[in-house]
Amino acid sequence: MSDIKKVYGIDLGTTYSCISYMDEHNKAVVLSNSEGERITPSVVYFEDIGEDKPNVVVGTAAKESSKLYPNDVVSFIKRQMGTDIPFYHGDENYRPEEVSAYVLRKLVQDAAESTGEDIEDVVITVPAYFGVNEREATKRAGEIAGLNVIGLIPEPTAAAVAYGMTKEDDKKVLVYDLGGGTFDVTLIDISQESIEVVVTGGDHNLGGKDWDDAIISYLVDQYKEQTGSDEDILEDEETAQQLQLSAESAKKTLSSRNKAPIRFNHGAESVRVELTREKFEEITEHLLQRTIELTNLMLEEAKKKGEGADQVDEIILVGGSTRMPQIEARLTQEFNVQLTVFDPDESVAKGAALYGMQRSLQDWVKTRAQEINESTGGGSSEDTAKAEEQAIDELANIAPAIGPGSIESNIKRAIKNVTSKSFGIIAIVDGERKVVNLVKKNDSLPSVITQSFGTLEADQETALLEVMENELSDENVEIDNAVNIGEAVLELPHGLPEGAPISVKFVLNEDGRLEVTGVELTNNGQVNATLETSSIITLEEVEEAKVRSSALQIS
Ligand code: AMP
Repeated sequence: MSDIKKVYGIDLGTTYSCISYMDEHNKAVVLSNSEGERITPSVVYFEDIGEDKPNVVVGTAAKESSKLYPNDVVSFIKRQMGTDIPFYHGDENYRPEEVSAYVLRKLVQDAAESTGEDIEDVVITVPAYFGVNEREATKRAGEIAGLNVIGLIPEPTAAAVAYGMTKEDDKKVLVYDLGGGTFDVTLIDISQESIEVVVTGGDHNLGGKDWDDAIISYLVDQYKEQTGSDEDILEDEETAQQLQLSAESAKKTLSSRNKAPIRFNHGAESVRVELTREKFEEITEHLLQRTIELTNLMLEEAKKKGEGADQVDEIILVGGSTRMPQIEARLTQEFNVQLTVFDPDESVAKGAALYGMQRSLQDWVKTRAQEINESTGGGSSEDTAKAEEQAIDELANIAPAIGPGSIESNIKRAIKNVTSKSFGIIAIVDGERKVVNLVKKNDSLPSVITQSFGTLEADQETALLEVMENELSDENVEIDNAVNIGEAVLELPHGLPEGAPISVKFVLNEDGRLEVTGVELTNNGQVNATLETSSIITLEEVEEAKVRSSALQIS
C-alpha cells in the first residue's frame, strides 16, 4: 500500500501569500514563516546580487527594504503574471514567473522547516478571472521553484471548499473576495454531493492597493496644500515608497479606529495629516461602488442560468480588504442576507490544502483499486467499482475524514469550476474576420468543444489557428474585443479543395488550462496543433530560471 501523498496548498497573493497543509487529524492548518508570521508579504528584495553570495529576501524584511532600496524591491508581481514584462536588476532581467518562484520558495522553505517534511506536491490558487496565460505562468512559477504543481484552484472556490467541507447544510453562497490587488465575486452552490461554481466575475485590477492609492493621492494633495509646492512628489521613489507604506498602514488603522495620524517627509518638508474614517470612506466610495456593480453584473449572469439561479443564502467575505468595515455595512445594506467573515487571510490557502488532500485521497483510492484488481485478476467495470469500494474502506481505516462527512463523501464530493473567459479562434464570418467563440465564459469545467471550419482556398498549405481569449459570451466577437493568447499551425496535405473541413478541438481542463487540436477531416489526418503562447516563459527559459534560482539563497 502506498502512502497518502502530502499536498500543500499555497495562496500566492498579490500582496500577501500563505501556505497550508493537512495535519494528522486531516484539518487544514496554516504554517508560519521563519519570522513567525502566518502570512508573508509577496515582496522580493534583491540583495547583494552580483556578489559571491547573492541573496533574495522575501516577506516583511523585503517590504521594509522598499523604503531604502526602492529599485531593488519588487511588489505586486502577480499583476504582471501572464505578461513578459520583466523586472530589471543589475545586468539581469527577471520574468514575473521567476520573481513569483522566489515567493514560493520562501513559503515552501519555511514550511518544510516547521513540518520537517520535503515539500514537492502543491496546489496553487489563482484569481478566478485569471486567463490561460496567467494560469500557465503560475504553474511555471511553481516549476521554477522546484515544485510539482498538481493543480490550480480559483481563490473563491478554495474559500468555498474551506467553508463547505466543514458544513453539512446545502447553501448558495456568494464569495466576495477583495484582496490586495484583485476582486473576485463568485456564486457557489454547496451541497453534500458537490461544491459547484455557478458564475464568476470580478476585476483583476481592483483591490486593497487601490484604496491605498486613493490615500496616497489625498496625501499628495495635502502636501501641496500644506507646503504650497506644486511638485509631483511621487516622482521621488523614496517618497513614493514611504507614502505607499504609510497609506496601507493608515488604512488598516481605520478598520478599527476612527482616525489615523500620518506623518511623512519629502526633502526638508515634514507633513502631518490626520485621516478620518469618514474622509477615507468618501475618497474610496467609487471603489466600493465598483465592487457592488460587479457583484450585480455577476448575479445577472447567474440569472441567465435558470430560474432562481441567482439566489444567495449567505455572503462569505474573503480577502484582507474585507476587514474595512464599510464593506460589510454596504453589502448588508445592498443584499440583506447573512454575512460571514470567514477566515479572510487564511481560508484560500486552507481550501487549496483541502483540495490537494481530496485529489491525493482520490489518487490513493485509484491506485489501490488497481492493485486490488491486479491481485484478483479483475478488470470489468463492476470489478473496478468493487475494488474502489474496498479501497475506500481501507482508506477509512488509515485516514481520518475531512470535516463532518465520511471519507467516502470527501472523495466523491465533486469540486466544479467554470471558465471565467471565453475562448475562440479567428475565422471569416460573413466576409469579415471575427472571433468565433468555442468555449464560453461561465461554461462548466472541464470543457471539451469541437467545431468544424473550412479552408479559405483550394490547395491551402497551412491553416493558422489564432486562439483568442475574451470576456464576452457571444457566438462571434470583434477581434478588437479579444486578445491573442497563442497560435497553432496546422500543416495541410496537398490538393484540398476550398472549404475543406478542419475540425478544431478545444480542451479546457479543470485548472482552466487550454489544449488545442486541429484535425484535417478530408484525409482524416490528425495533426496536433500545439498552442504556442506568446507571453509565457518557454520551457527552455524555465530550465534556465531554475538554474539561476538554485544559485540564489532565499531568506
Ligand atoms: P489578501 O490579498 O487577501 O492577503 O489581502 C491583502 C490586502 O488586505 C492588502 O491590501 C491589505 O492592505 C489589506 N488588509 C489587510 N488587513 C487589513 C485591515 N485590517 N484593514 C484593511 N485592509 C487590510
